[in-house]
Amino acid sequence: MTWALSLPGSRPLKLYGLVKAWLRSYYGRYLLKSPEFERFTKSRGVIVAFHRVNDDLSDSLTCSESKFRMFCAFFKRHFDVISLHEMIQLLNDKQSIAGKLVITFDDGYRDNYLNAAPILKELGLPASFFVTTGFIGNETIAWWDEKYLPSPAWMSWEEVRKLANDGFDVGAHTVTHADLGTLSEPEIRREVENSRDALTSELGGEPVSLFAYPYGGKENITESGRRIIQDAGFQCCLSCFGGTVTAASDPYSLNRVAISEWYTHPYQLTVDLLKSVRRDHHN
Ligand SMILES: [Zn+2]
Repeated sequence: MTWALSLPGSRPLKLYGLVKAWLRSYYGRYLLKSPEFERFTKSRGVIVAFHRVNDDLSDSLTCSESKFRMFCAFFKRHFDVISLHEMIQLLNDKQSIAGKLVITFDDGYRDNYLNAAPILKELGLPASFFVTTGFIGNETIAWWDEKYLPSPAWMSWEEVRKLANDGFDVGAHTVTHADLGTLSEPEIRREVENSRDALTSELGGEPVSLFAYPYGGKENITESGRRIIQDAGFQCCLSCFGGTVTAASDPYSLNRVAISEWYTHPYQLTVDLLKSVRRDHHN
């Protein structure tokens, strides 16, 4: 009964989506061999952002384990994957970041430790994990996860330490996952400095120098917010509204591309990367 009713409308729609995804993948694969992509890797770098890596959920924040592995292999094959520290060093030294790619994770989900880190280790890839310090080691339910039961778990401090001990970078992402674009300066300072201090003490006194601001949109940070982040001793501030990195990029205004489940294949990323360059040229 139900299936008979749902078929006529949903099937063509689903098929249309699949065909579109397939065409984009095909186009992306073609672009990889184009002079345009060659120019891209000779002039630009990329920072990608993941949130969750698991096979339990299917939403815009989650990448399945097999797809994550596919993305890592793609990064390794078509880019020079380096750590965020290395990319910042290159930018500060006015050296080339062309063809470099940095892998990052936001929020501090436990599946980063359980599922993503083993794949990264196996492939020998560096990565940075930006954790919301007030969520680590407890059962806070983020408002965007309220629809899930059980809600996706956060890492424990022990797991965060293990990531750091394995050579991965751990950075700050505020204490409460606050929208820094809406807070007063004293509130921003509290979120920035307290997340820094929690990480520093939990990681055994190592200075914490990487920062990615929550939500990552243009409207989620202010100029005074960036200054506070810089004054707190951080070496960078990462956004997440798309775009790439050039030699002229400001480490306190670094673009990232979010990788979400709706990329059915890594080739689709090529399409979006080149599209963002064309957009830059038009602006
Ligand atoms: Zn976040």
